[in-house]
Amino acid sequence: MKEELATRYEPSQFEQRIYAFWEAGGYFTPVADPDKPKFSIVIPPPNVTGRLHIGHALVNTLQDIIVRWKRMSGFNTLWVPGTDHAGIATQMVVERQLAKEGISRFDLGREKFVERVWQWKEQHSTEIKDQLTRLGASADWSRERFTLDEGLSRAVRYVFVKLYQDGLIYRDLAMVNWCPQCRTAISDIEVEYRERHGKLYHIDYPVEGTDRRLTVATTRPETMLGDTGVAVHPEDERYQDLIGRNAILPIANRPIPIVGDPILVDRAFGTGVVKVTPAHDKNDYEAGLRNGLPQMQVIAEDGRMTDAAGPDFAGLDRFEARKKVVELLREQGSLVKIEEHLHNVGVHGKCETDIEPMISRQWFVKIEPLAAPAIEAVRSGAVQIIPQSWEATYFNWMENIHDWTISRQLWWGHRIPAFHCPNGHTTVTMDEPVTCPECGAPVTQETDVLDTWFSSGLWPFSTLGWQGEGHDDDPDYKTFYPTDTLITGFDILFFWVARMIMMGLRFTGRAPFSQVFLNGLVRDEQGQKMSKSKGNVIDPLDVVNEVGADALRFTLAVAASGRDIPLGKSRIQGYSAFVNKIWNASRFAMMHIDTELRDAKPIDRDRLATVERWILSRLNTVTLEVNKQLSLFRFDEAANALYQFFWHEFCDWYIEMAKPVLLGKHGSDEGRALAKRVLLEVLDRSLRLLHPFMPFVTEEIWLKLGGVEPAIIIAPYPVPESDLEDPDAERLTDAVKAIITTVRNVRAERGFTPKDRFTLYVRGNTPRESNFFRENAYLLTELARLNEVAVEAEPPAGTHHDVVEGFHIAIAFPEKVVSQEQLDRVRREIEKSENELASIESRLGNEQFTRNAPPHIVQAAQARQAELKARLEKLQQNQ
Ligand SMILES: [Zn+2]
Ligand SMILES: [Zn+2]
Repeated sequence: MKEELATRYEPSQFEQRIYAFWEAGGYFTPVADPDKPKFSIVIPPPNVTGRLHIGHALVNTLQDIIVRWKRMSGFNTLWVPGTDHAGIATQMVVERQLAKEGISRFDLGREKFVERVWQWKEQHSTEIKDQLTRLGASADWSRERFTLDEGLSRAVRYVFVKLYQDGLIYRDLAMVNWCPQCRTAISDIEVEYRERHGKLYHIDYPVEGTDRRLTVATTRPETMLGDTGVAVHPEDERYQDLIGRNAILPIANRPIPIVGDPILVDRAFGTGVVKVTPAHDKNDYEAGLRNGLPQMQVIAEDGRMTDAAGPDFAGLDRFEARKKVVELLREQGSLVKIEEHLHNVGVHGKCETDIEPMISRQWFVKIEPLAAPAIEAVRSGAVQIIPQSWEATYFNWMENIHDWTISRQLWWGHRIPAFHCPNGHTTVTMDEPVTCPECGAPVTQETDVLDTWFSSGLWPFSTLGWQGEGHDDDPDYKTFYPTDTLITGFDILFFWVARMIMMGLRFTGRAPFSQVFLNGLVRDEQGQKMSKSKGNVIDPLDVVNEVGADALRFTLAVAASGRDIPLGKSRIQGYSAFVNKIWNASRFAMMHIDTELRDAKPIDRDRLATVERWILSRLNTVTLEVNKQLSLFRFDEAANALYQFFWHEFCDWYIEMAKPVLLGKHGSDEGRALAKRVLLEVLDRSLRLLHPFMPFVTEEIWLKLGGVEPAIIIAPYPVPESDLEDPDAERLTDAVKAIITTVRNVRAERGFTPKDRFTLYVRGNTPRESNFFRENAYLLTELARLNEVAVEAEPPAGTHHDVVEGFHIAIAFPEKVVSQEQLDRVRREIEKSENELASIESRLGNEQFTRNAPPHIVQAAQARQAELKARLEKLQQNQ
């Protein structure tokens, strides 16, 4: 039984109720059954620290659209949600909390600190779920996972041990990116580069036993305290004779060898002389190894100078030390000059601290043996990256990949399962050893934890119950692995996507998904990055509270193309009007239809009127289009097709055309019954097509509509049916629409009002077409407000003639007595058109608009511009 819809669309009245209804119905929770066709996807786990931002809203909306579409299309559909423990990010949040209490993690000690982080996690773990719920995410919360869950941790441990046994994990001294603030090593891709106005210091190093000097240039003079050599190009005639001699390091007054190194030195650059600091620079580290130069660490892990830097500097912060070095060099007369210098400085993206290259003992994954199959998987098409333009970036990175530093000097995370004894033996096993298997001495566990991406690299299978070989028979794993699609931001292609492909292939023998869709980044209307400091941030939860989740979701879907996604409040408002339109159109329709008819036998299409066949044919085209575009991840195209159809064909035209029949002004009872069936059919299918984009409003209407399926979320998604195609009905209805529009325009151009009625003469090109116009004369009369439609009759002289969509028409206006009033109306019409034209032309003149707006929007603006120009011309003729 149908119920009545509320008069006004108020999403806050039903969104949360509907979500609870879905959860209670178990619609998000599939049964693990390997024999059913399935669709599975895992969420990119948000950091457990997080409040969802607009980027999360985008990626989760896109996933939910695909998930709902697949579920309605008959797949046994699973969306696994969960969160990431997010090593550094979470540790930093709790450390900041401690700082407010005046203590540090070192005061608490490791065990107490980790307990504190768990407490924090328990307090905040429901926040992400609550926010995704508000957005409508149809994820299976009964399968929610956390990267530090017991099962996932076992998978992590298994993978670590196996890679170690296979010789793909090693521990070594190496130059790493060190964050003195977080006091941990970080991987290459966690380093972000900031352009900075710095200084380039030119310093003279005297050559021992001569009166010559070598001038070097550096942006970091404090590192000179750790110089252990000076390098020149071995073929540089200016310096060749000095190779083998010593230079005297200023301030420290230490002799350091002058070496020839063709790799480190570019003789055309600067003076052609380079200082070598093997302990604090990546290139110098390599050069040091090549030339046998010692490593001298002058900066400690906390960013302060070590004793090796000399008594004047020990304990000083590295930036303080820089000032002091410059001061002393100036006093000694060794400072040649200081230049302004624009350069890129590597910082730790999480805390903005300058990275200090540092030599330390770390754990690494030997990456090449993992990367090779992952490259092949994309090359062979086993994994498809969409948009395809990202594949080149993927190959380029994967082919030049460096070993992965996986150890972090943190406390929050998976502690590395390696056990050290005092005699230098290291044991790596699944089970914790009590004593060293080699010498029987007591062991202590490695203090480092794993990079947080190590565990998220296993996410598509560890979340499905995979815990290593012999522990891979979980029904979920057998049913839902490999997953089908991954949707995520392009910014984590390497951090995450590449590592999942490598780990998946290595450990499950299969790629973890077959398609990866990389979405763009949300920016503000001007294309600027959203940031708190700029004040242009859009909080998705605020939007949901203001206009409902459906308007936000639809806006995100329409915007979701390209690398930069411009989003502003006005755009969201525009689509909020669309949701209102759906509500109001459904309300109107529901007043006129009998939902009992839903169970009746199929409509006999031979009895339908042309416009009815037209709307069903158009609906069929949209059905085809939406399914096709979703399969291509063109969310924008799919959403636009639905918007155009529902608003501009169904509401603007079809409902208006159906009114005379529905209201009993025209036609027979049988015709009215058919019109009701068609109205119901179109509304029903439209709601189903819209559901993945706007789940709440469509479900609310559907439930009130009553009918065969218990909920729209599990109703079958419409598929195209070729027998609904009707090009002839489309052609004739298009002609009717165009004639109505022409009459309306000409009426306004001549200064008549909608009250002024006249006769329209129309002629078909065939008897059948003439018949069509006779049968549908009521449509023209109603919608174009005519006295009468004369088919095949000879129009009187002096009528306005036109050819519309290939049909000859004539409009017989009353005697041409042009009143002042009419002239005023024409003038107002001209003004209105001019204003609209000016506004469109200013939009088209704005480069931001033409560059950022979707092409079809720009094209629509251009079409409207041409239309207005033509109209103005006609109006001016009538002035
Ligand atoms: Zn840091
Ligand atoms: Zn031992």
